[in-house]
Amino acid sequence: MVHKYVASAPGKVNLHLGVGEARADGYHELVSVFHAVDRRERVTLIASDTMTDGPIVRSMSTTFFVDTPDEDIDGPGNLAWRAVDAVATRAGVALPEVRIEVDKHVFVAGGMAGGSADAAAALVAANALVADYGTPLDDDTLLALAASLGADVPFSLMGGTALGTGRGDELVAMLSRGRLHWVFVNPKVGIPTGKAFSLLDDMRHNNATLVPHLNTQALSQALTTGDATRVAAAMHNDLEGPALAMRPQLARLLDVAADAGLRAMVSGSGPTVAVLCDSLEHAQWVADHLAEHFDGYEVFVAEGPDQGAVVENVF
Ligand code: ATP
Repeated sequence: MVHKYVASAPGKVNLHLGVGEARADGYHELVSVFHAVDRRERVTLIASDTMTDGPIVRSMSTTFFVDTPDEDIDGPGNLAWRAVDAVATRAGVALPEVRIEVDKHVFVAGGMAGGSADAAAALVAANALVADYGTPLDDDTLLALAASLGADVPFSLMGGTALGTGRGDELVAMLSRGRLHWVFVNPKVGIPTGKAFSLLDDMRHNNATLVPHLNTQALSQALTTGDATRVAAAMHNDLEGPALAMRPQLARLLDVAADAGLRAMVSGSGPTVAVLCDSLEHAQWVADHLAEHFDGYEVFVAEGPDQGAVVENVF
């Protein structure tokens, strides 16, 4: 009998991304406001009849509902693969070998934490598998495994809207009212996350006015009012400067998107541009407008906040 465990986890946008000093471990101190959107990754574990005590993943394959990247991402380095084996190893019981299938709806290397969402969905799917053969891991253990896989994975597990400090993985939920409507645009100009951070360090070294923005008070007040115009005014991303310096073509996209929506900003380290709108209808109009102006760019509409990683189905 085949057993399948299906889970999903959200993509995210940073409503605020303040980058502080580089730490001794190479990470920067962050003050980040994460916001999960209903563009979700789906991860399915397909159990075989063969039981094993060690790592359980035998293969994986990704189906792309966004542009397929040049690199082959299916392998032991994939965050979903690592997440499943981390849960299996920690559980310490014999489990069936599995194949992983990922439905990818979040842009790859886009600054929307798609890989982290795969990891979070894989963690909860693997824990549902463990529950069929032994005692599932508790929430704190899953959260610790998430943090060991990547700085954004704990938020993908948690969802909603949250303030992240430290590497961005020390989280506290934030109050917010109502729904925010978004358009996401992938301008298809890769930005390696590490390069965006090191360019910011260089830019600050040469320009003393480029200080870290670590205060999220105005944003947090705007979120509690549910007024999208106020949220739009309070959004900020310290990595937008480096993204624009590396990919100057982003400037036109940001200009056209800002004219059409309430506010346009680079998401995380980019290159995805997130456009905040004031209703679903407005977002759909903005999406059509941008698709018309930027031939070949990928565009989708989403809303938030959305829930974190959940098991959707076991059968
Ligand atoms: P973040 O917003 O957290 O910086 P991102 O959305 O920019 O992340 P991802 O799509 O998560 O970037 O992945 C970036 C790189 O990580 C990929 O280019 C790939 O080499 C590797 N990777 C590992 N696991 C995955 C995965 N499950 N999906 C996509 N890429 C993955």
